[in-house]
Amino acid sequence: MSRDALVFYSDFDDAGAWKKMLTSELPDLDFRNDVAAGDLADVRYALVWKPPAGFFARFPNLAMVTNLGAGVDSLVGRDDLPDVPITRLSDTGMVSLMTSYVMFSVIRYARDIHLFERAQRRREWHYVHPRALAAIKVGVLGLGELGAPAAKALAGLGFNVRGWSRSPKSIEGVRCSAGLETLDGFLADTEILVVMLPLTPETRSLLDNRRLSLLPHAAKLINASRGAVVDEAALIAALQSGQIAEATLDVFTVEPLPADHAFWGMENVLITPHLASITVPEAAAREVAESIRRVRAGLAPLHLIDARRGY
Ligand code: NDP
Repeated sequence: MSRDALVFYSDFDDAGAWKKMLTSELPDLDFRNDVAAGDLADVRYALVWKPPAGFFARFPNLAMVTNLGAGVDSLVGRDDLPDVPITRLSDTGMVSLMTSYVMFSVIRYARDIHLFERAQRRREWHYVHPRALAAIKVGVLGLGELGAPAAKALAGLGFNVRGWSRSPKSIEGVRCSAGLETLDGFLADTEILVVMLPLTPETRSLLDNRRLSLLPHAAKLINASRGAVVDEAALIAALQSGQIAEATLDVFTVEPLPADHAFWGMENVLITPHLASITVPEAAAREVAESIRRVRAGLAPLHLIDARRGY
C-alpha cells in the first residue's frame, strides 16, 4: 500500500516547525523535507513556496498543491503546475494581522497622526481639528479573505466605507460595488484608498496615472497587497504633485526596495518591509491538515484558488 506523503519546499519557512505541527494533527502523515527521499509515487501533497522549475513533475500522484502564503502570483505564473487543486494559506492570525495593519494605516491619516509626527520634529504644537470618522470616505479595493475583514473592521469603527471587487459582495456596513465599469466612480468618491487586490494580469498597474488622478485631490493611498498593482512611476508623480498627499506602502514592484529608490526620500511616504501580515503557522497548519483530511475523504480542500483566474 502506498504511503500518504507530503513534500515540503521553502527557502523561507521552517520545515521542522511545519513537520511538528502537521504531524501532531495527522500522525500518519509522511512529512518529507528532502524532496528526493523515499518513493516519489507516495507523495500526494506539496506544501511549497517558490519551488524550482520542474519541481512538480517528479511526483506522479500529487492530489493537492498548497502555496505557503496567501499571495499566489508567483505560483500561478508558472507553466509547470499540475492539474490538481491548488490552495493557499489562510488563517485567523493572518487576517488579524492584516486588519490591524490596515486599521493602523487608515487611522494614522484619519486622525492626522502623520502631521503630528512631523510637527513634533519641529517642536511645534500643531492643532488640527479632528474630523468625525463617519465623514471620512475609505475605499477598499479587493474584498477577499483579507480585504473583506479589514473593510468590515473599518466600518465597525465608524468610517464611511466602500469596497470594490470583481463579483458582487454583501458586507455589513460596507457599500459594495463590483466590476471595472464601477471603478472610476468608486475612486472619485474615496479619500483614503486601501489596496487589497491580488496581482494578476488584470490588476497589474490597475492604479495608473489616469485612475490615480480620479481620486479627490490630496487623497491617501495604502498598499498592503502587491506593489505592481500600482504604477510606481505614476504614484511618485502623484505624490510629488500633491494629487496623492500621503502613501503607506508595505509592498513594492522590486523587493527589497532598492536603496536609491525615490520612495525612501519622500517625507509623505511611510515604508514598511512587506510584513503587513504573515502566516501564523500553528493556525495555518490546522487548516492545511483539514484540507488533507478532506482530500483523503474525496472532498474539495479549503482555500482553493483558481490558477487560470490568477488568485
Ligand atoms: P483573495 O484572493 O481572498 O481576494 C482577492 C479580492 O480581490 C477578491 O475580493 C477579488 O474579487 C478581488 N479581485 C481580484 N481580481 C480583481 C479584479 N480584476 N477586479 C476586481 N476585483 C478583483 O485575496 P486576500 O484578500 O487573501 O489577499 C489579497 C492579497 O494580499 C494577496 O493576493 C496577496 O498578494 C496580498 N498579501 C499581502 C501580504 C502582506 O504582508 N503585505 C500578506 C498576505 C497577502 P472576488 O471576490 O469577486 O473574486
